[in-house]
Amino acid sequence: MAAAVLIGAVAVVSYVCGWGGDTDEMPSSLFTAATRGSEDARPTWNLTDEQLLDGLLSAAFSRRSCRSRYEFAGYYRRKPAHKPSLYLVAKLRKHEALQRWCGPGTAPYREALRRLKSGDGAGDGGDCRYVVSIGYNRGLGNRMLAIVSAFLYAVLTERALLVAPYDGDVAALFCEPFPGTTWLLPDDDGRRFPIRQRLRDLDGESQESLGNLLRSNASSSSSSSPPWPYVYLHLEGGFHFHDWLFYCDEQQRRLRGVPWLLMKMDSYIAPGLFLVPSLRGELGRMFPEKDAVFHHLGRYLFHPANAVWHAVTAYHRAHLAGAGRLVGMQLRAYHDETPALSRVVLEQALSCARREKLLLPPPAAAAAGTTTNASDTAVLVTSLSPWYYGRIRDELGGAAAGGVHQPSHEGRQRSEDAAHDMRALSEMYLLSTCDVLLTTGLSTFGYVAQGLAGVRPWLMPRRPPWEEPDAEVPEPPCARAASPEPCFHAPSYYDCAARKNYSDIGKVVPFVQRCEDASWWIKLANGSRQW
Ligand code: GDP
Repeated sequence: MAAAVLIGAVAVVSYVCGWGGDTDEMPSSLFTAATRGSEDARPTWNLTDEQLLDGLLSAAFSRRSCRSRYEFAGYYRRKPAHKPSLYLVAKLRKHEALQRWCGPGTAPYREALRRLKSGDGAGDGGDCRYVVSIGYNRGLGNRMLAIVSAFLYAVLTERALLVAPYDGDVAALFCEPFPGTTWLLPDDDGRRFPIRQRLRDLDGESQESLGNLLRSNASSSSSSSPPWPYVYLHLEGGFHFHDWLFYCDEQQRRLRGVPWLLMKMDSYIAPGLFLVPSLRGELGRMFPEKDAVFHHLGRYLFHPANAVWHAVTAYHRAHLAGAGRLVGMQLRAYHDETPALSRVVLEQALSCARREKLLLPPPAAAAAGTTTNASDTAVLVTSLSPWYYGRIRDELGGAAAGGVHQPSHEGRQRSEDAAHDMRALSEMYLLSTCDVLLTTGLSTFGYVAQGLAGVRPWLMPRRPPWEEPDAEVPEPPCARAASPEPCFHAPSYYDCAARKNYSDIGKVVPFVQRCEDASWWIKLANGSRQW
């Protein structure tokens, strides 16, 4: 019901905004046609390894409920570079059972709510413990990174993941990831979730934050004091030194018995979790290839809802499927971008494309005759601004017989706008189908696309929007990212065992590296690199 209302809203908003005027753009009707029930209703036992992403996905869902889940693989022509480990696959199946056992509506869930209401801590132990992911009201890329981070932590610590209803339009954007249960924290009745009002207000100053609990006297009362019934983990900008102690073994041991952990962040904390010694072993078994953590978790967890998926597949069929090679260019535009800055960004993108010959097939593939020639290339541009598209078409169109395409140009970033988010999500997925990616540094929108694709993008360095922008194209204009992994934007540099900051994280954990787009951020990559 709610989804139907939202889908209607999408059509109306798109129409009012004049979206869909150009032939290259996604007409708004794409988002509404998905409800017509054209889904494949074949039984799921027919599913191939490819559709199940080599075991990553459970076969327990019906196809009708969520087309993207089993169709996703069909839109990727590259053979996946990474297979999930058998250990990860087993861990995910086990986690699904836990989500079903502990999910809303079950007896353990009711018991956990009762104890939360009465302020009972761990004590004699309920069956289930929870991580509640509370998003910020920010861009979709940030929110997806936060949810995937909370999920990874939930799997590692054997907790059920629930997504707070304040996390925007998750229900309208994504299908349920776990069979036979819901990942949405029920919001139908204020009495149901005892600290419901509190969730929205939690911030770095909240007394229930780990940082404040540790700062207060409660920190010194270990085994003798009653356990905390819930703890708020403030893991984002503006966090204090004590909040960082989340990344220490001592606090991890302490949090183990807390039934409810409320997590708020807008970043990708996986590299930070690898720095926690007690979690590193398990993470290593789950992810022998360190550059594929988001690739696996993102493809496991996120499945665009039918309305979004319909828009993705229809656009793909109409504009991209015929090309032998797809080049995606993500040009992040900010609301206060001046014409002078736009010209620098455009020049940067063009000079990267020419210098790195992004529109040409790689020499090895061309020599082997396994790929098509340049004339068979199509370019997908995504940006809030329509300005880049025309210039790129003029400059590069001759080398891209498959055409230059831009599905939408929203003008500016909006919040609490379901239609806007649906278009953003569909473009992230369209970008992820590309063979080559050129992305804008600092942008989590690009991180999600490259992570889903499992492709190392060409990254254009960019000054943060709050700094004086570049007046000239940086040299070099772009660099190949070390891995498709997103960067962690709020890392702790505190070495808990040594009780001082790391001088060189790379010496402790070689696969945690500095990010290409900002040197104080960290990311996962195979192999090691000089710090
Ligand atoms: P970040 O701010 O670049 O890290 O990325 P986020 O995804 O977190 O936030 C940016 C938001 O702006 C997105 O979620 C979209 O709502 C919007 N946006 C930015 N770039 C694009 C784009 O290329 N296409 C669309 N449709 N929306 C975009």
